[in-house]
Amino acid sequence: FSSAPAPIPATLFPGDGIGPEIAEAVKQVFQAAEVPIEWEEHYVGDQIDPRTQSFLTWESLESVRRNKVGLKGPMATPIGKGHRSLNLTLRKELNLYANVRPCYSLPGYKTRYDNVNLITIRENTEGEYSGLEHQVVRGVVESLKIITRQASLRVAEYAFHYAKIHGRERVSAIHKANIMQKTDGLFLKCCREVAEKYPEITYEEVVIDNCCMMLVKNPALFDVLVMPNLYGDIISDLCAGLIGGLGLTPSCNIGEGGIALAEAVHGSAPDIAGKNLANPTALLLSAVTMLRHLELYDKAERIQNAILTTIAEGKYRTADLGGSSSTTDFTKAICGHL
Ligand code: ATP
Ligand code: MG
Repeated sequence: FSSAPAPIPATLFPGDGIGPEIAEAVKQVFQAAEVPIEWEEHYVGDQIDPRTQSFLTWESLESVRRNKVGLKGPMATPIGKGHRSLNLTLRKELNLYANVRPCYSLPGYKTRYDNVNLITIRENTEGEYSGLEHQVVRGVVESLKIITRQASLRVAEYAFHYAKIHGRERVSAIHKANIMQKTDGLFLKCCREVAEKYPEITYEEVVIDNCCMMLVKNPALFDVLVMPNLYGDIISDLCAGLIGGLGLTPSCNIGEGGIALAEAVHGSAPDIAGKNLANPTALLLSAVTMLRHLELYDKAERIQNAILTTIAEGKYRTADLGGSSSTTDFTKAICGHL
């Protein structure tokens, strides 16, 4: 008889390329930290599942819907006709409406800035990414940018809720409403409506071009940023660059019904796959965002500290951070700090 709480099931997609190597690192670190998570591993199939029109099976999607939490390695969509891209399938089927990227300076890893601590929250379902493009006549094309009240309120609501539960002080809505008066205008109107419900959080509106200048001059000016799809795509990569690049930046996708699917920002890195060279930090920190979503704050802190301490010490670092450690040695060093 054991009084230990039942483990929490979570879906794990190791993914392609370096995915399996960095997913293995996460499993080992979770084990060393005694995280009460039971992974349900799912793999991308080699045939199209007619129920999803994709190489992702219906069972995989059901696993995320059932568990409501998951971690996803990079997935390379196979080239060919008649199927949907893997990321698009996940986004549509699970209604992943917000992409959240925490971005903070890693102590001991020197970049141009050492005071970055911000969160970008990107609307993930509409805007310029609605896929509605056509030719009007020869030499003239149109692309439709769709902004809806429903999706804007939903992402704004998530941003303020996030700010509140994480003790953040300010939410900045990023826009170009001076030019895109109707679309970005509606987005801002929705943000303002939600802001009224959170009087304890400062709300501001910043034009995207000005935001870029402020971010590169002094990233400490920002706290939580919320924005439509295209701006979010660009600004979140800009922010990743502020702290040292793709090997370090985590993200988490929030879906309808409280789903959280965490994933590293980087791709499958085919150039270094299978060579025990990949930096698992981005996926590990993504896993940490998943733990925070599950309110396992103690475990999240411990793992994050172990990762940051290992990087700060500088004895074990992977090649992308200028070191010569393998994925497995770096992972062992993190486990040693737990
Ligand atoms: P994909 O098509 O899956 O996006 P890609 O060829 O664009 O793959 P990325 O994964 O986007 O490659 O990576 C771009 C560069 O960054 C590559 O040189 C890759 O080796 C490097 N890189 C990406 N992720 C990591 C990581 N976790 N550790 C070390 N290097 C990485
Ligand atoms: Mg890429």
